[in-house]
Amino acid sequence: MSAVPLRNNKSVASAVRSVTVLGATGSIGDSTMDLLRASRDRYQVEALTANTNVQGLAKLAKEFGARFAAVADPSRLNELKDALAGTRIECGAGESAIIEAAARPADWVMAAVSGAAGLKPALAAVDRGASVALANKECLVCAGDFFMQRAAKAGACILPADSEHNALFQALGSGNREELVRVIITASGGPFRTWASADIEQATLAQALKHPNWSMGQKITIDSASMMNKGLEVIEASYLFALAPEEIDVLVHPQSIIHGMVEFSDRSVVAQLGSPDMRTPIAHCLGWPDRIVGPAAKLDLAKIGQLTFEAPDFERFPGLRLAYDALRTGRGATTVYNAANEVAVAAFIAGKIRFGAIARLVEATMDAWIRSGNLAPLTSADDAISVDHNARNKAVTLLPQIALKAS
Ligand code: NDP
Repeated sequence: MSAVPLRNNKSVASAVRSVTVLGATGSIGDSTMDLLRASRDRYQVEALTANTNVQGLAKLAKEFGARFAAVADPSRLNELKDALAGTRIECGAGESAIIEAAARPADWVMAAVSGAAGLKPALAAVDRGASVALANKECLVCAGDFFMQRAAKAGACILPADSEHNALFQALGSGNREELVRVIITASGGPFRTWASADIEQATLAQALKHPNWSMGQKITIDSASMMNKGLEVIEASYLFALAPEEIDVLVHPQSIIHGMVEFSDRSVVAQLGSPDMRTPIAHCLGWPDRIVGPAAKLDLAKIGQLTFEAPDFERFPGLRLAYDALRTGRGATTVYNAANEVAVAAFIAGKIRFGAIARLVEATMDAWIRSGNLAPLTSADDAISVDHNARNKAVTLLPQIALKAS
């Protein structure tokens, strides 16, 4: 049985729901807290977490009367205790405290820690059968089949929060698996959509951070510019909905109004549209199986006038091609893809490599991994974390030679 509920079993939710937000101080966390703020009487906040932003975390915990607040950086426990002094909010620090936050009995958990660090906390929520709104795509990219199997076994309900997957989630309800032909994930094309390869190669950090439509965290914004983000989303869609790589197409759609489409056997294509605002897919996950009031701007198609589409360019954006390669290779290759990309993006932010070298480092790390005969199915979180760790080390070793190599 799939952990993603594909048919909408309508219910009228009335009771107060307990919720936990992992990564509450981030961009997705912020949007989630905004939605909770708008319906304070419907939600009780169980736990909130952050990495280092103690003051932001404490402020939110006090505002929402959270029961527990956790910061990942163990050296900040005293700072957190001081910030929560005089309240009855329990607190903790370190990875175990983030996992404890996820394991506490909330009905609904937003998994919005960034990076592979989000895997173990998300699994802690999944293992107790919670409804988990999954924003952290690395959980699936790193642990794929294993993550979804654990969710199905525990009876957890995975609600896709990433806008494209949420769109597919909504559209998939129009037919069944046998009737499905393919899914189409749209991509804005990012700030370098029309740029020549030579210019993309030299793009600066400031240019990479200028996303045309979405306001997001730094890492995902850079991934959007390289289209690595779309690659991660292709992998995410494959695991979430049990789709073969051939069943997933990417379509560049610069206006970011259609977020995803599903084609069925009768050639009907069902799409989900909306203003580019993450609060819409998050609201869908928060309200599921009902719909709640969302704060995004009303979609005015007459004002927008034109929706345009282009085929993706796998030459100028090799990161997208590499995602399909990783998916076809399987056996930990998608974990390597993600780990190498995280190392590459950090190196780009630190000014150690050019923008164009991000995909080259990912490709070199994947090649080295495959050549070394390290491919094997991942059967546990520790397996995934170990591959992630080793692939990062490999990428770091390859970094100097990639940095020197021109395209
Ligand atoms: P941000 O960088 O804005 O926020 C990340 C959050 O995770 C922060 O609360 C941060 O805490 C916390 N965090 C970071 N590292 C750790 C760690 N090692 N342990 C525990 N907590 C940690 O990221 P986004 O909100 O943009 O993205 C979150 C996830 O959602 C990512 O996986 C991203 O790919 C995905 N996503 C994001 C979208 C977006 O629009 N932003 C869209 C779709 C998916 P602190 O503030 O203290 O650093």
